[in-house]
Amino acid sequence: MNVRSLRFRMTAWYAGLLLCALLMFGVSVYLGLERYLNWTFQSMLVSECRTIGTELLAQLPGKRAGWLMTEVNEAYAPEVNGRFIRVYRDGTGIVYLSGAPKDGAFEPSEIPFPQGNQRDGVRRIHLKDGRQLLTQAMTFTTPDGSHFLVESGTPYQQIQIVLHGLLLTLAIYTPFIVSLAIAGGYWLMRRSLQPVDEITERAEGITSSNLSERLPTIRTGDELERLSTALNRMIGRLDDAFQHINRFSADASHELRTPLTILQLELEGIVHNYPLSESLENQIGSALEETHRMSRIVESLLTISRLDAGEVKLDRLPLDFSELITRTAGEMNVLAQEKSIALCTSVEAGISLDGDRTHLQQVIVNLIDNAIKYTQVGGTIHVSLYLEDGKIIVEVSDNGAGIPAQALPHVFERFYRADKARSRASGGAGLGLSIVKAICTAHSAGIYVTSEEGLGSRFRVEFPTISASHTANCAS
Ligand code: ADP
Repeated sequence: MNVRSLRFRMTAWYAGLLLCALLMFGVSVYLGLERYLNWTFQSMLVSECRTIGTELLAQLPGKRAGWLMTEVNEAYAPEVNGRFIRVYRDGTGIVYLSGAPKDGAFEPSEIPFPQGNQRDGVRRIHLKDGRQLLTQAMTFTTPDGSHFLVESGTPYQQIQIVLHGLLLTLAIYTPFIVSLAIAGGYWLMRRSLQPVDEITERAEGITSSNLSERLPTIRTGDELERLSTALNRMIGRLDDAFQHINRFSADASHELRTPLTILQLELEGIVHNYPLSESLENQIGSALEETHRMSRIVESLLTISRLDAGEVKLDRLPLDFSELITRTAGEMNVLAQEKSIALCTSVEAGISLDGDRTHLQQVIVNLIDNAIKYTQVGGTIHVSLYLEDGKIIVEVSDNGAGIPAQALPHVFERFYRADKARSRASGGAGLGLSIVKAICTAHSAGIYVTSEEGLGSRFRVEFPTISASHTANCAS
């Protein structure tokens, strides 16, 4: 998982958690407010009933008809305030009933009486049009022994309006807050993961050939700083180990050079200075061949080790790359002709670059040499040089044996041979492409191979840079 997707995942988690928290908060505020409003309205209704029951009904005996109506209307103005008030005396019937409220929210005469024995208490009455009325009923007995049922009610709609208002507020602000949190969270995440991004990018670019480079050290004083410092120390240790291995290969190759040369000279001396039987001469001849092979291997190893260790001083001078490739291919054509292989070139003229002529020539020679080695008699090899996207591209392709897919990632490794028997028979030790790769790396060039077994291979070298007309030639 890369840093970018980590950033997205963390922001998504953060946004998800925030949304859950906001939803839980919204639900609890909604339920809490509903309970609170219910309780407030109920207390108000209870207090109304109690006032009517204890203060007005106690004075009712002896008062003129219509006194209760005047008192209640004056005290509570039910029509104006949208309230329902009803006073019922057992045996007599309704002694007071408020008028219909101005907004027509309910019709007082249609409100049913509480059923059953337990008439006291709160009720939520569902009206015909779907509205609800919250009512409180209380029974009173006046000193003259009359039993009254006092009811007071208010439309539940008033509570619903407040709750709907809250829902609307939550519905509008929640997405806004979550979007703001996502943007803020992403920005924060970007800021805090930026150093990780930089470290990852730089770490991706560190290979065995540039182990002297280091990751950016993050001076944050936290785990990230410790991580970058630890990684840099690790790269330092790897650098030491690689240098040690390179030095060992270079030293070993160097030490083997002299005894090998002496051995060759001795063997050549014996062959030239002493009369030998035919079989002995053959044996010494074969031993000489092997020492020549060993010398080539040792020289190749020495070249690779020195290139890898940066010990080889490349003469990077401006050179006519088009001319170098055309000339080298021309020279190699002699070898190709021996196998009746057609060596075609397609070279854009005038392409130049800063490079070491001898080493770059070796790249071309090794690639064409391999193509000739691994292409059957009568095959075709194409060598091309052209510019593409500001890069100089060299391609050597053939229609030879090709390389098995499982061998492709290893062909640039030292001593790797895809087909050991064939490679050894053709004199290869598996070092040719390692040298090519080391020279390319030293020139900051990339080398890539594509191949299909039985159909052929294509080696592509990409040099970073520039300039060109076009010449094409095919000979066999
Ligand atoms: P060698 O000296 O054995 O040719 P190289 O390093 O040059 O070693 O190549 C490594 C291996 O890659 C070879 O042994 C061969 O199997 C494979 N190879 C390289 N070039 C080609 C090619 N043009 N066609 C097929 N196989 C190739």
